[in-house]
Amino acid sequence: MKPIARRAVLICGVMLGSFMLMTDKAGAADTYTAKVAAEVLNIRGEPAARSDIVGSLKKGSIVTVSDESYGWVKINSGSKTGWVAGHYLIQSSGSSNRDNDAKPGNTAGSGKPVKSAAGKTEPGKADAAPKAAADKEPSGKEATVLADKLYMRSGPGTDSKATEVLAKGTRLTVLKQQNGWVQVRVSGGGTGWVSERYVGETGSVQIAGNSAKGGLRGKVIVIDPGHGGGDPGVIGLAHKTVEKSINMTTARYVAEELRRAGAQVVLTRTNDDEQPELSGRAQTSNKQRADAFVSIHYNASPKKVSGTLTYYYSEAKDRPLARSIEARLAKGLGLKSNGISFGDYHVLRENDRPSVLLELGFLTDARDEATVRKDDYQRKAAQAIAAGLGDYFAD
Ligand SMILES: [Zn+2]
Repeated sequence: MKPIARRAVLICGVMLGSFMLMTDKAGAADTYTAKVAAEVLNIRGEPAARSDIVGSLKKGSIVTVSDESYGWVKINSGSKTGWVAGHYLIQSSGSSNRDNDAKPGNTAGSGKPVKSAAGKTEPGKADAAPKAAADKEPSGKEATVLADKLYMRSGPGTDSKATEVLAKGTRLTVLKQQNGWVQVRVSGGGTGWVSERYVGETGSVQIAGNSAKGGLRGKVIVIDPGHGGGDPGVIGLAHKTVEKSINMTTARYVAEELRRAGAQVVLTRTNDDEQPELSGRAQTSNKQRADAFVSIHYNASPKKVSGTLTYYYSEAKDRPLARSIEARLAKGLGLKSNGISFGDYHVLRENDRPSVLLELGFLTDARDEATVRKDDYQRKAAQAIAAGLGDYFAD
């Protein structure tokens, strides 16, 4: 890690508010309160998924957050203390300097926060926000669990009792679909209900090209290639890959995929010389009354982290879209997904439309950089994003 990169990251962190602070220790002034969004959230002794579970919190519990480390946050709730996966908390109050937003015009703070990689998806909490959907006919098809761990429940809803925890990759037979839930039989096991967002068809080699993309017809999608003009974004450490350029090429591929599926695509910039303001990017989405807004970025970190991250701001408005796109990114990219996470970004926060910000790999990780700078990866990412949008609109 180069000193310069470290400094840039710290500047970004400070400008982006306490939630994204990159420092290893947040001061007392950075505490805020938050609410648990998952049904049950494990508390761990250390900021890592492998760390011991020291307790748990129920949905709606109020916690005080005092520190953050790569997607894990240190919490205190009554007598309980420890670390939880940050993306299962909704911030409710505190010292987040939300008005102190990054402005375009300087590289480090141009609005694409360089921030921590979230921890792995916390086991078992993947059914926190299923989207309501119309009933679908029974299918009887084979499927696989996509989430790291997935609750199987006695009925189609998070109110129903969890009967089993299914591991990623578990084979299932789909018996029935209802309101975003599927009744499944576990291979060699019992039956129950799981959120359909976290199961995928077995053997679907192609990410794109399924019928779900039919839902894209006529939809207005705003694609926002991050940075541009005098703001190059992140510069890769090994190959000097310029983020603004690969954001642009990736965005073009996404636009191509979406148009092919019948969507109407608006790009916030169409070449590398343009540098629209962050407010302008969000306004484009609002003015176009976009059905979805997707901001495309590649990431940086002073630590050894890799993979993709999908950010949302609003639990109600953005999170279902984030879930849909992340599920496709996780499935078909060959780069690990670090799941979805809350992100306090201008282009999401000031956006009235369903919106997400994608970080499609770390330019500070040599392996990630070598992968993501290739055309092949960017096309695969574009297909996954289009497929995720297709899934989102399929309901
Ligand atoms: Zn960026």
